[in-house]
Amino acid sequence: MPLVVQKFGGTSVADSQKILAAARKAIRTQQAGNQVLMVVSAMGKNTDVLVDLAAELTDRPPAREMDMLLSTGEQVSVALMAMAIGSLGAKGISLTGGQIGIRTDSTHTKARIKSISTERMRRLLDEGYIVIAAGFQGIDEDLNITTLGRGGSDTTAVALAAVLGADTCEIYTDVDGVYTTDPRLLPAARKMRQVSYDEMLELASLGAGVMHSRAIEFGKKFVVPIHVRSSFTDIPGTMIVAEPEAPDLAVSGAALVKDEALVTLCGIPDTPGTSLTLFSKIAARNVAVDMIVQNVGAAGFADISFTVPRDDLRATRDAVEEARLELGAAYCADREDVSKVSVVGLGMARQTGVADRMFRALAEAGINILMIATSEIKISVLVNREQGAEALRAVHRAFALEREPAPPRAGTAQSQPAHRDALAIVTRLQGMEDLTISDIALDETQARVTIAGVPDRPGIAARVFEGIAAGGQFVDMIVQSIGHEEQASMSFTVPRADLDKAVALVSGLAKGLGCGAVSGSPRIAKLSVSGVGLRSHTDVAIRMFRALAGTGINVEMINTSEVRVNVVVDGQKGQAGLKALQDAFADVRG
Ligand code: ADP
Ligand code: ASP
Ligand code: MG
Repeated sequence: MPLVVQKFGGTSVADSQKILAAARKAIRTQQAGNQVLMVVSAMGKNTDVLVDLAAELTDRPPAREMDMLLSTGEQVSVALMAMAIGSLGAKGISLTGGQIGIRTDSTHTKARIKSISTERMRRLLDEGYIVIAAGFQGIDEDLNITTLGRGGSDTTAVALAAVLGADTCEIYTDVDGVYTTDPRLLPAARKMRQVSYDEMLELASLGAGVMHSRAIEFGKKFVVPIHVRSSFTDIPGTMIVAEPEAPDLAVSGAALVKDEALVTLCGIPDTPGTSLTLFSKIAARNVAVDMIVQNVGAAGFADISFTVPRDDLRATRDAVEEARLELGAAYCADREDVSKVSVVGLGMARQTGVADRMFRALAEAGINILMIATSEIKISVLVNREQGAEALRAVHRAFALEREPAPPRAGTAQSQPAHRDALAIVTRLQGMEDLTISDIALDETQARVTIAGVPDRPGIAARVFEGIAAGGQFVDMIVQSIGHEEQASMSFTVPRADLDKAVALVSGLAKGLGCGAVSGSPRIAKLSVSGVGLRSHTDVAIRMFRALAGTGINVEMINTSEVRVNVVVDGQKGQAGLKALQDAFADVRG
């Protein structure tokens, strides 16, 4: 019999009437000849209420007790849901994370799933029960209650769908699908018919709060089709699957993280191992770092800037100060009045002129770009917080995201990886959410162009990259960061054969814009590690840094995405770097 997992978010179970409505949906699905497993969240804003209660007592609540507290929200809703189902004449039974046997590690408030036992759920499903699982929670080895992080019920649902081999995982929520950006922020946003796992992973981790990003990791690893749809209507929502909606589209969605913080460590001796020291201290505090930008070292000193969620700033400050003392760096600084705006699209990897369109849109809206970081399928910029919403609007408009894309051409669909293969890989690994690395690669075909002394005012990036696009120049990694005295530096990579042309082109542009010297280096090597969920696995970049530092290799540029971490190193050290990375990730190769 087909098995359907149905997850109901907080607003979908906010009161008894909504609980009854959800119960009816599950019963209807069962009556249509399916086994049904429900995953429910805490009612309404109950989790927030509990968080606020704890905050009334202490500003540093022990993580273990937070989990004990927060898990009660879901326990309330599963019990009520079982009663609702019973009252409608069907058989429902509620189970906590512990009763299902969702084993996690002991990272309280951000626990990762290690294993799930399916036996009890299967037995109950076979006996005709609608099984109602508490979302967002598990237990560790010592039976302590753990939670998976805010929004984690999505992850419970997709993980259960994965282990039970469900035919589909339906995410019922208060919007009727995944939109090109948060429709609450931008009413012009368009509902997508379909979005690929890779794009959704990026969007979710870059601010699209409609799905927990780790749920998408499970979806991708185990090839679970995810259907995001409204609890209040029956219209079809958005399918999250392997293929994108329109493969040729450069940008398919945009996202905003309103509350981001920018941290800079300045005047670091530019030697191998500095990134390792810094980021391992941050990772030890379980903070996921984004937009890492390292200014290419001048006079033997480098600056590293990066962003973290504003809520993690306090922990990050402690880590950075420790690193500053250890490294003998000059000073650290941070600001918490910044927002991150990103565009995501599988098609951008194959097109020129995507970045400049984004930068132009921002320049025309009078928005200054504080920092830029790109990866194969996303471009993120950091802007002043008061301009965040306007920046999102400007880029959404620039890429005409409100417009329905042309249907895909015949024959462009990507093939789905076989379900069994994905399962085989993951079952070899101990934990369900463990890291899986699919590829480690060396690219020796690229060169680097760096512009020093970039003035801090709107429109510079737009002019530079428009000039480059007009010259037909293909650009790969782009990074820009604010450094000493508000002077930013900007680096990007181009195919090596185009280096002289690119330097000449950019030198002409840079002079007119009041920038400093332009330099080019043909001797770079790009090393990449690809896999699933790399940003939430904060230790991936650390492993890379450790492996490279151990081989005496200095990291010149870094970019990260959910599916790949790239570093640029000295061109003569490419092969040695590749070997070091292959060794470092030997235990997690898929
Ligand atoms: P639930 O409680 O059901 O898990 P959430 O509040 O976590 O619901 O997620 C739904 C919300 O996500 C929507 O109300 C919407 O404002 C927000 N959201 C953010 N980005 C997007 C997006 N790209 N598409 C749809 N909704 C989005
Ligand atoms: N109740 C939890 C939260 O509010 C988990 C969830 O709803 O997904 O974060
Ligand atoms: Mg949610």
